[in-house]
Amino acid sequence: MAISARPARLDHVGIAVHDLRAVAPALAARLGVTAPPPELVERDGIEAVFLNLGGPSLELLGSTRQDSRIARFLERRGEGIHHLAYGVEDIASELRRWREQGAELIDPEPRPGSRGRLVAFLHPASEFGVLTELVQMPKEEAGGGGEPHPPRPTVVCLCGSARFPEAFQRADQQETVAGRIVVTAGPHPGGPGELDSLDRRKIDLADEILVLNVGGHLDDATSSQVAHARARGKRVRWLEPPKESPE
Ligand code: ZN
Repeated sequence: MAISARPARLDHVGIAVHDLRAVAPALAARLGVTAPPPELVERDGIEAVFLNLGGPSLELLGSTRQDSRIARFLERRGEGIHHLAYGVEDIASELRRWREQGAELIDPEPRPGSRGRLVAFLHPASEFGVLTELVQMPKEEAGGGGEPHPPRPTVVCLCGSARFPEAFQRADQQETVAGRIVVTAGPHPGGPGELDSLDRRKIDLADEILVLNVGGHLDDATSSQVAHARARGKRVRWLEPPKESPE
């Protein structure tokens, strides 16, 4: 049995409505998104509005012709969920694969659908009563093509006493030149303080900490930062070798 190159994902849910132009902005407002203008798919006699919800979208479907599939659906069933659509990387080969595995094709070949994408519908009879659509995903959304992201640089969190602002400046420059992302826990000019929650989050975010123990000096706040970093399994680097056995 042929295996898909990539897992399919739920791309959208299609909902048939009588009055697309009224429903789309109203539903969009409830969902906190904006409705784009309807897209006319002339050959199918339908109009579609995609509401982008971050993950799967909603496709609101209206009819522009009395003999369209949406018109027939609305007549028979009224408004409601019309189809589910799965995004696939290579629709032609997926369609073949689905057919080999028993899917009944409404569209024997992929055809242009809304959003300029190739689509193909599968009969509800072979899909557990659900009208099913396959959609060819654009390369970048399918995860293929395009430049791969380079690996993320190491994030280093500088920890130390407010007494050594120059050490922070120097370390910031050196670490940046070395290609690391620098965040700074302290120094807190407001005086000594406990490890505050923002500092904890900075350490949590970092891959490692660099302790600026100038002259071996380690104040309480810095010690608790080191303890927190260790507890989280972060690498601990020292400006100067620590006096007490740190590890
Ligand atoms: Zn659709």
